Order: sequence, then structure tokens, then C-alpha cells
Amino acid sequence: NRTMSALGNPPATQHTPMIQQYLKIKADYPDMFLFYRMGDFYELFFDDAKRITQILDMTLTARGHSGGVSIPMAGLPHHAAEPYLAKLLKMGESVAICEQIEDPKTAKGPVKRAVTRVLTPGTVTEEAFLNSKEANNLVVIIQQENSWGLCALDLSCGHFTAGEFKNKDSLINEITRLQAAEILIDENFIWPSTYSPPKTTSTLQQHFRVLPKFKSLAQSINVDESLEKNSAAKSAAACAYAYVQLKQAQPARNITKLRAITQQDAVQIDSQSLNQLAIKTSGQEASLISLLDKNATAMGSRLLSSWLLYPSRNISIIKSRQDDIQAYIDTGCNEQIADSLKSCGDVARILSRIALKTAKPRDLVRLKQTLETLPIIQQQLLDTQQPRLQKIANNLLTFPELANMLSLAIVAEPPQTIRDGGVIATGFNEQLDEWRNISENASEFLIKLEQQERKNTGLSTLKVGYNRVHGYYIEISRQQAQNLPEHYHRRQTLKNTERYITDELKAFEDKALSSKERALAHEKILYNQILDDLMEPLTKLHRMSEQLAYMDCTQNLAERAQTLNWKKPQVTPKSGINIVQGRHPIVEAYQEHAFTPNDTALFKSKHLMVITGPNMGGKSTYMRQTALITLLAHTGSFVPAKSATIGVIDKLFTRIGASDNLAKGQSTFMVEMHETAHILTQATENSLVLIDEIGRGTSTQDGSAIAQATAEHLCHTTKAYTMFSTHFFEITQLPNIYPEAFNRHFSAIETDYGIQFLHQCEDGPGNNSYGLAVAELAGLPKDLIKRAKKLVPQKEETC
Ligand code: ATP
Repeated sequence: NRTMSALGNPPATQHTPMIQQYLKIKADYPDMFLFYRMGDFYELFFDDAKRITQILDMTLTARGHSGGVSIPMAGLPHHAAEPYLAKLLKMGESVAICEQIEDPKTAKGPVKRAVTRVLTPGTVTEEAFLNSKEANNLVVIIQQENSWGLCALDLSCGHFTAGEFKNKDSLINEITRLQAAEILIDENFIWPSTYSPPKTTSTLQQHFRVLPKFKSLAQSINVDESLEKNSAAKSAAACAYAYVQLKQAQPARNITKLRAITQQDAVQIDSQSLNQLAIKTSGQEASLISLLDKNATAMGSRLLSSWLLYPSRNISIIKSRQDDIQAYIDTGCNEQIADSLKSCGDVARILSRIALKTAKPRDLVRLKQTLETLPIIQQQLLDTQQPRLQKIANNLLTFPELANMLSLAIVAEPPQTIRDGGVIATGFNEQLDEWRNISENASEFLIKLEQQERKNTGLSTLKVGYNRVHGYYIEISRQQAQNLPEHYHRRQTLKNTERYITDELKAFEDKALSSKERALAHEKILYNQILDDLMEPLTKLHRMSEQLAYMDCTQNLAERAQTLNWKKPQVTPKSGINIVQGRHPIVEAYQEHAFTPNDTALFKSKHLMVITGPNMGGKSTYMRQTALITLLAHTGSFVPAKSATIGVIDKLFTRIGASDNLAKGQSTFMVEMHETAHILTQATENSLVLIDEIGRGTSTQDGSAIAQATAEHLCHTTKAYTMFSTHFFEITQLPNIYPEAFNRHFSAIETDYGIQFLHQCEDGPGNNSYGLAVAELAGLPKDLIKRAKKLVPQKEETC
């Protein structure tokens, strides 16, 4: 048995029947954890047990001697499995859940078991397994001759997009932006050596490529026309669809539309820039998102995130967002709207769970609360008397009948699941009420019966009771259990008491128990019917969830603009960037001392800015703030500047700071050169390029030559809007040769107390890097600094 020995397990035949059954099932799921149900526990065995105890806080035990072998084992109570599953999925692991599929009481031999669900990071929809503020994309990449088909499917809210990429760099950038929870790649696909693919990457199995027929997919969903001729994109979409279908074991009814990914619509940002500008960070560090996202709903947070990752190039979209933000600022109603939005649930995801039939009772309550809040929001917007907001109010879809239905159907505080009932409200369904009455009125009947039997038998200690195994009984103490009426039939003998049943009690028992079961079964049917009923208005509900997300995102940006003192930029089709008194949003928000604003002007005639000045002077901050302001302007947001005019750009590139990729065998210098090559081939005259101190990781001569040649290339060949910071002062001579180039600099002053940075960017070249002063500030030994100062004249050419 190859799989077993591959796992390092002993031959299957030595094992008990139960472990043999385990190994047989596990062989079908070699690359994921198998949660194996045994009574009230999920057990993991062999390597699964060892691995899970290494990555989660669990104890490794051993299971007796199965065929003479001790088996590593780890277990967790089945009712507490959710947090463990959530952690594993977050780490990019997948889990197959294997349940007992027959009643252990009646089973002959080992209880039958089967995998009932496979959880993978990119196909789950349960609230507990998702990050509410992030999309949860499954990404599929299919390779064709000269292109790649890419599909992103977020099952948690039904977003389904696909596109074709002819250029691998753009493909990789798109994958980075999608922040995939799970990636399936074509077996021929090779990641570029500079890129570390996410952990959850697996090869698309051959059968998926054959299995899905795009035609059948196109029958059930509405496919964007532009994808018609795009076979790579269509294959990727069909694979993604088939994959989630298989994992969910039911139709993905929430997916109704396949949209085309169109690269021209958004500013292209490569993966380095996303990291270097701290637009979104994975840890706790401050990021643009953490500064901006004070949305009232998770839907708003996700939309903001997509605006920042896909800044728009469409001026009318940008202007319309700006005008809405302005309307909230003018009327000051955003706080009130935010408060109302806080009562709304994550409708986008709730709707997906409804369509997939995994919605929990509390999802329906949150949907109801949202529907009840819609008219309130509508009124609040109408009351502003502001035409734009009134228009939003009038367009807002409301669902009064649905809200009413849900409030009648579901109790106010339902249990977690429908499993044990108690979800459907009294008065919603007559039949359910009747069955419930019978079982619930049992106690009344039993008290009456007890009184009646005490009277008949003259035994005042006679009791009527119930237990789960034996059912209803009349209990009498052993001594008194003589001369009982004939219709008393013995049911059970205990140490000091005897238990009896009568025909009357038996008849009641049958009725009570069956009505309880019937009530529960009926409740489940009704619950499913409600989910089905919600399918019909699903598209409209979806539209409403988008309206709420948009409203939240714009009211949030209005609040941020006011609190952070940001101004509305003018975004124009005319090329050029002109920022007056711009600030770096994150540095300004998180550093203690005041931020010094600076201007930036880049025009077609003056598009290459050479920046010099002291270490720690503020060069990187200045370049980054220009990029962030430009990007923010493309999202529709206001920007940290006194005023700004931003011509639409097509791409943004940054090469700031050094990093290496030792795992891939690349030195710092090699990574730098890779990134520079990438920029030089991809940038256009409408791109914004930031290059920070290129050419440092090699000899001064080679470095300075590369830096100068790169600047020249950007100046006369690429012609991109470029900010080029450097400590190679010879580059400040560039404006003498190229009129498109110009110098800006930062300065510092040396005082008795050490160096002081002015952070003020001014025209012309700098004259000093103050490297020694900064080194002294950093605490290098005094003797060392003294010695270095003596050496300086000899090293003058490097400044
Ligand atoms: P190096 O050449 O050593 O890389 P640099 O010139 O790129 O340095 P930055 O990293 O941009 O310098 O800035 C150093 C620090 O100075 C920042 O972390 C920030 O705290 C502060 N700083 C930068 N710009 C400003 C500003 N405009 N106003 C206030 N403080 C600033």
C-alpha cells in the first residue's frame, strides 16, 4: 500500500478494523487533514496528529496498540471544532470532515463513516472562517500558448471575474492584488523566480480541465460578452466554478454573473509598490487601509479595500464618488448615516449563504434588521434636502414585505442552528403551532394525570416522570407497589422504586413524542422554504447590499477627509501631477512631531525630478506621499494636501528600499536590478515611477553609472513621471543635458546639539548627505566618527 508507506504508517493489515477504515478514507485525502468522527470527538491519527499538534495548541497522545503498533493521535470535541478549523484554514490548510453516517447503537461492526464536507480556504462561506474585511478569492490560472487565463471567484459574496493576460508581470500583479485565499494553477505554470507564491497553491488536477464544459456554465450564468472569444479565461472560469461546486457539494446558486477583468479600467500597481507604500499590511503595522477604514460595515471595508487596490482610471466614476463624499461633508449627516449602517449586517455574505443554503438563523435575523433599517436611512438622506443624497435615497431599494415576513417568521433571538428547532416564531405557521402545543402542553397533562392517579390509588408519593431512554412512567416506591390496578404495566425496576406505564400514558407518550419530532421536521421544512423564498429577490437584495457598501464607503471617506483635514483633488484627463503642500498620510498620523508639507510638480516638459539631500532628510517620505496622494485621487477619496491636480496615470512603480530574496538565491543587488528592469520595460509616459537610491549594493563606480543610465533612460526613452532620489551627486548634472530633468533637495543644519533635519523640499541640488552626522546620531563610537571624518576627503567622489 503505497499511500500508507508514504505516510510512514505500518501496513494496513496489522490494524484494527476501525483504523483500517480510517486509512482507507485517508488515502483519498492525502494532502489535507482528516477529521475523523468518533462519538463526540474528531480524532486525527498518524502524521495528521503529529502535524496538527505542531501547528495548533493541542496535545499529542497515542492510541493503544492497534495490531501491536502504537498510533499517534490527537482529538478535539466535535462541538468545539469551529475555532480549530478557522485557524487551520487561515494557515492555508484544508480539512476533510469525516462523519459517522449510521447510528452507532444499531451498527454491526465499525460504524460506517464518510467524508461529508471538504473545507478549503478558498471555498468556505461560513462567517467563522472568513475575514470580514477581506475578499476570499479562489484564483485559477490556466496556461495557453502565449497567454494565461485567470479567474477569481469569491464564493462568499458571489463575485466571479475572469480575464486573459498576455504578460506574465501583469498576471503576477493581478494575483497579488487579488490576495488569493487559495490558488489552483495549471501544471505547466512556472512562478517567476522573484515571486513567492502563496502557501495555498495547488496544481489543478487534470480532471478539472476536462470536467467543466464552459457551455453548460454559460447556460446558468450571465457571461460578459467580452469573454466570448477568450478561451483561456473561460477555461479558468469553468474550472473555478466546477471546483467550488464539488467542494460545496451543491450548486453555487449565488453566482449569477461572470464579469471580465479589464486591465485598462484601473491603475496598475505592482506587488512591490503595494508593499512599499504600505497600502495594506498583513500585520499590525500602520497602513493606508488601517488609517482610512472606519467603515460602519464589513461591506464598506471590503469596498474601500478594492478601491485602493484598483484605483479607477475613469474620471466620471472618480468625480461621482468625490461629489457624494462632498455631499456628506456639506450636510454633516455622515455620522447619523454611519450609526444607522451599524445596525446593518454583512448582507453580501449573508445572501451567499442563503443561496448556498448554509445561512444560519442569526443570518436571517441580521438580514431582517438590515431591511428594517433601510427606510430609516432613506428618510435620513431625504431629510438632508441635498439633491445628491436625495437621489441616493430614492434609488435605495427597500423590502418592506420581506422585512415583515422575516420578523413574523423568525424569533428575535434564535439559537445558532436550526438543528434543535426553536427558530420559527409562534404564529407563523398553524401546523407547527399545533404540534408544538401538544408537546409543550405535556407538563399540564402530566400534572393532571399525577393528581388523578394519586387519587385512584391512594398513594400520595406517586410520581409521573420522563426519561430519555424509557420514556414516560408512573413511579411508586417498592413497598407500595402491591395491589396496584391492573392497567399498570411494569416498565422498569430500580433499587427502591418501580416504574409503570398505563395505556393512557402510552397514548399520550406516542402523541407527545411524535408531535415533537414532527414539529422539528416541519420547522426545518419551513426554514428551507424561507431560504427558497429569498432566492427570488436575491438579485435585488444583492444590488441593495452594493448600495449600502457604497454609501458606507463614501460616508466614511467624508468623515476621514474632515478629521484628517484632506482636500478634494482635481482629477483631470490632462497629464501631470501638481500637489500643493502635500503630506504623507501615515507618517503624519502616527509620528509625534509635526509634519512639514511639501509641493510636487511633474509635467510633460519637466517629468524627471532628481532628489538629493541628507540621509534621514525625508526623501523617501516625499516620494511615497506623492504616490499615495496620486493613488488616493484615483479612488475618489480626498487627499492630504492643500490642493492637488492629478492627471490620470496608467501605472505606478516604486523601487524604494532594499530587500533580498535569499530563499530564491538572489542577492539584494540582484533583486534591485530585477525590479528596475521590470519598471523600465513596463512603464509608459503616463506612469508614475519612484526610484530610491538605485545602485548602492555594488561598487560605487558601477552603481553610479547604472543610476545615471537608468535616470537617462527614464528621461528620454520611457518619459514616465519620475522621482529619482540619489546620493550620487553627479546625477544632479542631468538637467544640464536634459531639459525635462530638474533638481530638488532636502537640507539639514549641523548644530551644537547634532544634526537637525528641515524636511523642507526645495528647488536645486543638495550639497551634502550628512552621512557622518547621521551615523553619529545613530550612536556610532566617537573615535570611529573622528577617524571617518579624516577619511572623507579621499572618498569625496561618492559624496
Ligand atoms: P535615507 O536617505 O537615509 O533613506 P530619507 O531622506 O529617505 O533618508 P525618510 O526616510 O524619508 O528620509 O525620512 C526619515 C524620517 O524623517 C521619517 O521617518 C519621518 O519621521 C521624518 N520625516 C520625513 N519627512 C518629513 C516631513 N516632511 N515632516 C516631518 N517629518 C518628516
